[in-house]
Amino acid sequence: MPNLSFVSPTRNSPWGTYLSQIDAVEPYLGHLGRWVETLRRPKRALIVDIPIELDNGTIAHYEGYRVQHSLTRGPGKGGVRYHPDVTLEEVMALSAWMTIKNAAVNLPYGGAKGGIRLDPALLSMKELEKVTRRYTSEIGIIIGPQQDIPAPDVNTNGKIMAWMMDTYSMNTGATATGVVTGKPIELGGSLGRVAATGRGVFVVGREAMRRLNIDMEGARVAVQGFGNVGSIAAKLFAANGAKIVAVQDHTGTLVNSNGFDMANLLDHVAKTRGVAGFKGGDMIANEDFWDVKSDVLIPAALEGQITAERAKRISTRLVLEGANGPTTPDGEAVLADRGIVVVPDVIANAGGVTVSYFEWVQDFSSFFWTEDEINVRLDKIMIGAFKHIWETGEQHKIPLRTAAFTVACTRVLQAREERGLYP
Ligand code: GLU
Repeated sequence: MPNLSFVSPTRNSPWGTYLSQIDAVEPYLGHLGRWVETLRRPKRALIVDIPIELDNGTIAHYEGYRVQHSLTRGPGKGGVRYHPDVTLEEVMALSAWMTIKNAAVNLPYGGAKGGIRLDPALLSMKELEKVTRRYTSEIGIIIGPQQDIPAPDVNTNGKIMAWMMDTYSMNTGATATGVVTGKPIELGGSLGRVAATGRGVFVVGREAMRRLNIDMEGARVAVQGFGNVGSIAAKLFAANGAKIVAVQDHTGTLVNSNGFDMANLLDHVAKTRGVAGFKGGDMIANEDFWDVKSDVLIPAALEGQITAERAKRISTRLVLEGANGPTTPDGEAVLADRGIVVVPDVIANAGGVTVSYFEWVQDFSSFFWTEDEINVRLDKIMIGAFKHIWETGEQHKIPLRTAAFTVACTRVLQAREERGLYP
């Protein structure tokens, strides 16, 4: 491990996972390997204190972060996460994965990520707004439409982006729609942005299934996480002939070997905020999710889910990483031994940031595209990026993750070399 004094990652922690992915790509970087240490260090990390007055009159303090892992290929770009387990180390890893993701699909961005350690379910709407506005002010010294552009991630959404956009605009004295993406349509948001990540997971999954000769019709799909990413991906798989046989969210794990009625399930989740209690399936213990037989497994929740122990139990042909960092290095080694193909996060879930890029471009030009134009462009980028990564994998006989990292790191380090070191 390199000697960063402010984190002590372990092998399977998020930053440890990212570092082992960089170790794996190093042999494929040729002369650019000289610059690889750049990728093992975030360019800049900001820790902020966020004090707010709660509704009951007491003062609460939250810790927030914004990490800019790389600004080599363009401004920072990446979401903001609200979760009780957020740490600097996690945000560092998520920011680094954004660098790789943006380069893997060739968006003109570096990589960044932010987060606040809190449980948003425990806050009122007013308290959430105060936290968001103070956080935005505190990180205001490093974000901006040309510097670093936040977006939604776990537990954040268009409403939070609207508060961020407004706060930044009030502080700078001019309405700056391009400072965040994932905004409501009325504030310069893009059509298709909410569904984009799930849509990208589906499009990349369909391409991978074609390569692996997995028939979409009747394919069994298991999904962990039924938020914005998992639910939309599941809906698209079902609409194209696959069967969703298992779904896990924070309320429990639901199975139905004949496939759920998706319209009813989505309706139930919209009403009750979770899969628990749905009549069209059976509840099982959460840990038993990993034993459900499937053709495609989509982890679309948090990091570190596919451990070595779970990887031994998983019975599937294809893992499609809707979440960021769901597979640990030890889990990945077991999947590889067992011949299970993994389509890595940095390509599988890149649809979200791709439409974020479209949103940012539309904000700058003040000219807005139709949903159809968005989706056609999104599909084209995802299909092209997947093809390039697949072929890179075949050429070097390496797993898709190392292939995606080869494509992405080559782009980042090429730019690094061409820019040269300052001063
Ligand atoms: N949070 C999303 C991701 O992990 C989207 C980031 C963005 O749109 O900037 O890719």
